[in-house]
Amino acid sequence: MGKLFVVSGPAGTGKGTVVKELIKRGVAELSISATTRAPRGKERNGVEYHFLQKEEFERLISDDGFLEYAEYCGNYYGSPKRQIDEWIADGRNVILEIEVEGYQKVKAKRPDCVGIFIMPPSLDELEKRLRGRNTETEEQIQKRLKRAGEEILLSKLYDHVVVNDTVKKCADEIEKIFNI
Ligand code: ADP
Ligand code: 5GP
Repeated sequence: MGKLFVVSGPAGTGKGTVVKELIKRGVAELSISATTRAPRGKERNGVEYHFLQKEEFERLISDDGFLEYAEYCGNYYGSPKRQIDEWIADGRNVILEIEVEGYQKVKAKRPDCVGIFIMPPSLDELEKRLRGRNTETEEQIQKRLKRAGEEILLSKLYDHVVVNDTVKKCADEIEKIFNI
């Protein structure tokens, strides 16, 4: 059996960047979430997310298609169950890159999952990265920064907290956790 890892952290911390590095190293599979938010920048359907209409998302909820789902900054986000279970049964490690509410639901259902919280080096650096990404409007940035403070308080619920100082150092540290 493979293991289930949940990676969370405030928007702009660098989760996506670090997770991409871990996938490149071949240490796990990445679960592609479904969301009702609009694609950002160069995002493609079925690659970064399955982009769904609200009605389609709600149909999947009633069909029990999600391991968990949550609302974040006005949109639905959820982890489709089937692919995750297939990978785990096949002996592969799986990463869910999800927010804190989703993590708590997964931890309740699958207590053996490993929670990893990626922390920014500082709040100033977080804001700099979020702005530097250039993908959100000012209003969305403000919402995400407000939410960041709330999320950092919940980092205590995770099995591991890792600071994303440099991508390599952070990925190395997470890879070590995978091998525990
Ligand atoms: P998240 O997935 O947590 O929202 P991203 O992976 O999109 O964050 O990263 C946000 C921005 O910060 C991106 O522009 C990314 O290139 C940059 N970034 C990620 N990790 C680091 C790091 N360790 N040092 C400096 N910049 C980083
Ligand atoms: P973004 O809009 O920046 O891509 O993602 C916003 C937040 O939603 C991030 O914290 C991200 O980790 C989280 N997220 C992405 N997919 C899922 C999911 O399937 N479930 C939950 N609960 N959160 C998710």
